[in-house]
Amino acid sequence: MKTVPAPLTGSGLVDTFGRPLRSVRVSVTDRCNLRCQYCMPEDEYAWLPRETLLSFEEINVLVGVLAEYGVDKVRLTGGEPLLRRDLPTLIRLLRGQASIRDIALTTNGMLLEEQAESLCEAGLHRITVSLDTLRPDRFHTLTKRDMFDRVVSGIARVNEVGLQGLKIDTVVIKGFNDDEIVPLIEYGKTVNGEVRFIEYMDVGGANAWVKDKVFSRNDILLRLEQAWGPIEPEQEHGSAPAQRFRLADGTTFGIIPSTTTPFCATCDRSRLTADGFWYLCLYARHGLDLRGPLRMNDLATVRERIRSGWRNRIDRGAEERKRLESSDGRGQFIELDELRQDPRLEMHVRGG
Ligand code: SAM
Ligand code: SF4
Ligand code: SF4
Repeated sequence: MKTVPAPLTGSGLVDTFGRPLRSVRVSVTDRCNLRCQYCMPEDEYAWLPRETLLSFEEINVLVGVLAEYGVDKVRLTGGEPLLRRDLPTLIRLLRGQASIRDIALTTNGMLLEEQAESLCEAGLHRITVSLDTLRPDRFHTLTKRDMFDRVVSGIARVNEVGLQGLKIDTVVIKGFNDDEIVPLIEYGKTVNGEVRFIEYMDVGGANAWVKDKVFSRNDILLRLEQAWGPIEPEQEHGSAPAQRFRLADGTTFGIIPSTTTPFCATCDRSRLTADGFWYLCLYARHGLDLRGPLRMNDLATVRERIRSGWRNRIDRGAEERKRLESSDGRGQFIELDELRQDPRLEMHVRGG
């Protein structure tokens, strides 16, 4: 079994724009039990070969090295992370690292009812459940699975077992679920969860993104103002992707406006795929191979790749995508042929 390396001294790693390295989203599997049309519309994909998937010990070692360079927040994601057997074991390992102060999970909630208790016992700090609609028929249209009740039962269980920091993440798609913004906020109140609305993004390639389907941050605020009156922005949030607001009745909510108002300037996030490639941006075309040197017990090379990778980081993917709009060049991010050759280009492989 691999052990976490002894820490090196001093982090202070910043990229070419002075952005520090603070967080990593770890995708623990590229598989998923839903087929959300904005993320994984196809039935089959080029799946990552099983032998390339990092073990929990390997993930823990890589997170340990990333922590040497400033990472103190980890989000477990996927694909669907709860499909990875015995995820609480990974959470326990990560809890053993003193410098990791925040371990969060993003899940579609399908397996949450049975796993919430063990996730809580393992020490998960915060949980986010993705839910785009409160209508079972729409849930089926969007995800191609008839499992709305299961997700709602999973969310109910979060409160029963005492898991903290519940957020409900909703991708808002114009003409599909934008009429549910108000009901979703009401639902959030009943489950003690803060709702965060995500603008539809043109990530991956097979998701049929078009600009006309984006229900923007301003559209969302307007809709909520019509229902509740004036909305106040919450205090500054540092590098967090969500802008937070407060309704007149005190309810808080967030908006993640990646498409219309990118927040690349303060982005401190990196991504680790389930097969050990480290990406410096959601839109990056290439990642750095950390699995290769890790499996050769060459942590010096792992460190060097992380250090030089972040120091040379120039990524501002969402801003660049937005700039394309002025020349009318914003459409599908990656063409299908290219996707078939490199599965890591898809959102469900790099963890959203
Ligand atoms: N399967 C888990 C889930 O759905 O919560 C975790 C992985 S999923 C890729 C992470 C997040 O990415 C989800 O909240 C999902 O809604 C979001 N997402 C996927 N495709 C998106 C898109 N095209 N635009 C905006 N958000 C997207
Ligand atoms: Fe699966 Fe999450 Fe993508 Fe939906 S958003 S298909 S649940 S990985
Ligand atoms: Fe960060 Fe890239 Fe997203 Fe911009 S597009 S916020 S740089 S991950």
